[in-house]
Amino acid sequence: MSVRVYIGLGSNLAEPAEQLRSALDALDKAEGTRLAAVSGFYASDSLLPGQPRYTNAVAALDTTLEPLQLLDALQAIENDQGRVRQERWGPRTLDLDVLLFGQQLLDSPRLTVPHYHMHARPFVLYPLAELVPADFVLADGRSLAQLLAACPFSGLERL
Ligand code: ATP
Ligand code: MG
Ligand code: MG
Repeated sequence: MSVRVYIGLGSNLAEPAEQLRSALDALDKAEGTRLAAVSGFYASDSLLPGQPRYTNAVAALDTTLEPLQLLDALQAIENDQGRVRQERWGPRTLDLDVLLFGQQLLDSPRLTVPHYHMHARPFVLYPLAELVPADFVLADGRSLAQLLAACPFSGLERL
């Protein structure tokens, strides 16, 4: 049985839009996953000073993988695309975060779902809103409409 999951993609190094396109291709080809839908691409300034602007998008996948298997697959794609793990939130060629995994609530050292900070990130919420119905509710009971209302679109540029 497959589960609908939502992945947040981000890049601010080495042709970010190309990085996202390569990652979407890799997600579609990964064992046990199929790409179902992709949002538009959005640009925004880095939250930390001195970093290049980010390009972000959200993808819907259908997967038969378990959550940690999916995380392994995402990290393998990040590594394939040259992600170097230095300081947290440093500039990166590719970041793939699990935003939502069906209706599951996960809280382990390697994987917290829903993603712990998605509610405060316009570059996650607005692209996600392109892919789900207007009355969408997260596994923890928060409605997307309520999160959007508390998170202004300001600073985002739809590419
Ligand atoms: P942020 O999590 O604030 O977006 P980041 O994406 O830059 O920061 P990473 O360096 O990509 O952080 O990941 C750090 C660790 O977060 C990973 O090793 C992973 O095990 C863990 N992690 C916890 N929850 C998730 C999740 N929902 N999606 C992806 N990684 C997660
Ligand atoms: Mg991240
Ligand atoms: Mg990450």
